[in-house]
Amino acid sequence: MSTVRKTKIIATYGPAVASPSRLSQLAAAGVNVFRVNCAYGAASDFVKAADMIRRSVARARFPVGLLFDIAGPKLRLERFDGKISLKAGQTLKLTAGRADPKARSVTVNQPAIISSLKKGERVYIDDGSLAFDVTSAGRKWATLKALDGGTLLPGKGINLPQSKINIPTLSEKDKEDIKTAIRVKADYIALSFVRSPDDVVQARHIVESFGGDQRLIAKLEKRQAVEKLDEIVQAADGVMVARGDLGVETPFALLPRLQKRIIALANAQHKPAIVATQMLESMRFSARATRAEINDVASAVFDGADAVMLSAETATGKYPLETVKTMDQVITASEEDLRPPGSSAPPGPSTDITGTIAEAVSRHDERAVKLILAFTTSGRTAAAISCLFPMQPIVALTPGARVLTRLSLLRSVYPVRIEQPRSFEDMLATVQDVVSTYRLAGPRDKVIIAGGAPFGSTAPTNFMMLYEIGKRRKNARRQK
Ligand code: PEP
Repeated sequence: MSTVRKTKIIATYGPAVASPSRLSQLAAAGVNVFRVNCAYGAASDFVKAADMIRRSVARARFPVGLLFDIAGPKLRLERFDGKISLKAGQTLKLTAGRADPKARSVTVNQPAIISSLKKGERVYIDDGSLAFDVTSAGRKWATLKALDGGTLLPGKGINLPQSKINIPTLSEKDKEDIKTAIRVKADYIALSFVRSPDDVVQARHIVESFGGDQRLIAKLEKRQAVEKLDEIVQAADGVMVARGDLGVETPFALLPRLQKRIIALANAQHKPAIVATQMLESMRFSARATRAEINDVASAVFDGADAVMLSAETATGKYPLETVKTMDQVITASEEDLRPPGSSAPPGPSTDITGTIAEAVSRHDERAVKLILAFTTSGRTAAAISCLFPMQPIVALTPGARVLTRLSLLRSVYPVRIEQPRSFEDMLATVQDVVSTYRLAGPRDKVIIAGGAPFGSTAPTNFMMLYEIGKRRKNARRQK
């Protein structure tokens, strides 16, 4: 029998994997969701990427989802030729005018922020690897003193953790990128630099006004977001611990505690949590991970993350396939005797029927019950069971194409497309067929089946049954 992981893997698309064969290899190695990072490129690049991803994963064992990551108010240096070497104590000029890299003068993608800088404030560039203090500031320029030596490269990110800057969470380009995400039918849209629940509410209005139904993931990477975690988790459909920027915007020593806190909050509110950035960073250049990185991936699993994410490791790294395989192995080994985190317990007995069934379904020992099969039209049943941390994988059986790829992100959920059963007999035949095709359980194994009767109606999940797998039936209803 084959096993499946509970924690999902997200891989970022980029030049290192931009071919159908590479993408299908990555999917075969265990990628559940591909991320298109809209911080790099334009609409035509994203449409091309989404098309290639969809075509390349069409034959994957289980459906693969698509996440569009909207750049938001990411501050960056504008492009310049070459690089700038800096020694500690040397100055760098940020200007709203013309750049002159030879004179260590550079421009930024949002020149309006320069006027917000004040003497004495801290500026970080390149995910915090270069730190500066503002020594003088005008309306259209600021002079920064380098605290350490280093090399400044074009296009690198800027963080201003102490400055009060007033720029909208979604720019015109972000709105265009949201339109593209809707056009290519992305499953998820991630919102960068969310500062308040209002940012999520506004983004949802924009998505809906363009006719989209994408689920929204709030990327938690700003100090202001940490102050409003509870409300942001409530407003969003899921969260990402975006450790790259979060580790610069807040003291980096707080990251491990913040990661645990955010995941616990998301678990308690039954929303998926993603842990992102530098999980296997050294594998950008090396075929083997460091011991510390292996522990980091395992920690996210132990913390109760639904998914772990690879960024530059797959987008531009030298070893994308090895990285995904490493992540798959570490997760699988870490999950071996994983117990549900305490916060997965529902706050009180469920009052609705789906919730009650989900609770009953998810409290069985894996030695007694091998698998959970959820017949679901909207995906809600599978999601309700997933967030209660059952010990078994959940096969979500659904006729809906859109639901299939959306479920790919959720912990333990493996979606399979089926024809809607017309009768109880039909349902059992489908179960037998799916279980043997995917080799997830064998004869005499006990499985739990949950669903909503009568089939094909809008009835919520209202039944569960324990079923013993028999020999494969000849006339089983075929999967689509
Ligand atoms: C992060 O900052 O950790 C992150 C995921 O965001 P991005 O890769 O878009 O900078």
